Amino acid sequence: MRHVWSGEGLCRPSGAVRLVGVTQRSRAGLTCVAPPALGMVERSREKRGLAGGGGFVRLAGMGMIREVVETSVALVKGFTLTFKTMFQKTVTENYPHQPVNFQPRYRGIHVLHRDEGGLEKCVGCFLCAAACPANCIYIEAAENTQESRISAGERYAKIYNIDYSRCIFCGYCVEACPTDAITHGHGFELATYDINSLVYRKEQMLEKVGGEMPVGARS
Ligand code: SF4
Ligand code: SF4
Repeated sequence: MRHVWSGEGLCRPSGAVRLVGVTQRSRAGLTCVAPPALGMVERSREKRGLAGGGGFVRLAGMGMIREVVETSVALVKGFTLTFKTMFQKTVTENYPHQPVNFQPRYRGIHVLHRDEGGLEKCVGCFLCAAACPANCIYIEAAENTQESRISAGERYAKIYNIDYSRCIFCGYCVEACPTDAITHGHGFELATYDINSLVYRKEQMLEKVGGEMPVGARS
């Protein structure tokens, strides 16, 4: 719709939708809307609670009250937790003289699992390597044969390395694996003077036949 200013009014084509002020039929067949009188504008603003400085102050006051209430609730919640913890018995892990207690979902050095039959669960599909944001998984896959079956699938991971100088323990590889072949163990003792020893080979991460965890993955 094209609006044309004509003199002091706003003109719309005939049949225009909403009129704000006084309307007049112009000779050109346009409906001209004269600017509304000042009193009308003020009454409209009063109805919406916006008139004068009072409405604005009221809104600002309500916003401030809400902010004060929300902040107080957050403070009470925070201090409740602080005081609850403050009076509990302190637990100190006496590492390395005593074993460390981990939360079950702790993400440590990876474990490559076997199925119930003792076969490796990894089928060399590369999905974990593709999902890894740090690009620290290196896999070389090989075909299973009748004489030598390593995994239940067509292929198995002949070489499976993880470079722990790059791994950020995000768990994306675990999420991506379609056979649940890789999980995080609780092993965390990675510190070394030789960066090359941070490249863990398949043999260091592979679960032993019988379900025993690999040495590196134990906590
Ligand atoms: S935990 Fe994350 S960074 Fe580490 S190997 Fe898996 S996907 Fe890569
Ligand atoms: S660990 Fe899982 S995702 Fe990675 S290659 Fe093996 S089967 Fe595929």
